[in-house]
Amino acid sequence: MGRVALVTGGTRGIGAAICKALQKAGYNVAANYGGNDDAAQAFKKETKIPVFKWDVGDYVTCNEGIVEVENQVGPIEVLVNNAGISRDAMLQKMTHEQWSEVIRTNLDSLFNMTRPVINNMRERGFGRIVNISSINGQKGQLGLVNYCAAKSGVIGFTRALALESARKGITVNAIAPGYVATDLLSGVSEEVMKAIVGQIPVGRLGEADEVARCVVFLAADEAAWITGSTLTINGGQFMD
Ligand code: NDP
Repeated sequence: MGRVALVTGGTRGIGAAICKALQKAGYNVAANYGGNDDAAQAFKKETKIPVFKWDVGDYVTCNEGIVEVENQVGPIEVLVNNAGISRDAMLQKMTHEQWSEVIRTNLDSLFNMTRPVINNMRERGFGRIVNISSINGQKGQLGLVNYCAAKSGVIGFTRALALESARKGITVNAIAPGYVATDLLSGVSEEVMKAIVGQIPVGRLGEADEVARCVVFLAADEAAWITGSTLTINGGQFMD
């Protein structure tokens, strides 16, 4: 049986592609999701990957959810912190709720999910943690102060934990995707989408599968000397 991998937000979009790619690479995959039961059940039916519902923004439910995953699937060796949301508004119009929903789901979640698994990884002397950041955490974007702050925070978290974990066989890396056609972009108007694609040198949006390949690469046993890095995948839109 392959190593156990848990992917948050694993039932739709980029997370679903990550789950399928890890499964294909031989991992024993579990997928977390937040609330869309229909999508989760359809994903489970299609892939046979077990799905687990809890809010990654809540520390207590993360602890409980991880215990359930470990009881059913096994000790988590690969953790992919992928779940994320956007609540876009210019700061002068942003509500405190929009700010805090994004911070708790996209940044607090890294603490909530990683804290319960890190000691076991350290004891076993092996772990792979891959955190999904964003091009907008690297370069900033108007209307996304909350999202950019969280996604920059993901990169800081990644670097610090990489240093703490380096001698324990645990690597911690981030991936910063550019624009990928998923439900996350459903609120973006056609006109804005056209302008975004115009800024991408490769001339198109990314595919979820293209991001998933990066996760498989970083999760591999052979990727042991890559840690603290941010892998940029954005069709050339921003080079860091
Ligand atoms: P989607 O909206 O397509 O999917 C989001 C997934 O996260 C769903 O499975 C959703 O569960 C889950 N989720 C949301 N909130 C929670 C929560 N509180 N607890 C548990 N699970 C939750 O998003 P994408 O696939 O587009 O995005 C995946 C990641 O990639 C995010 O971190 C995003 O910020 C990042 N990203 C996306 C880009 C893009 O262009 N799409 C670009 C750069 C980064 P449910 O189905 O139950 O709602």
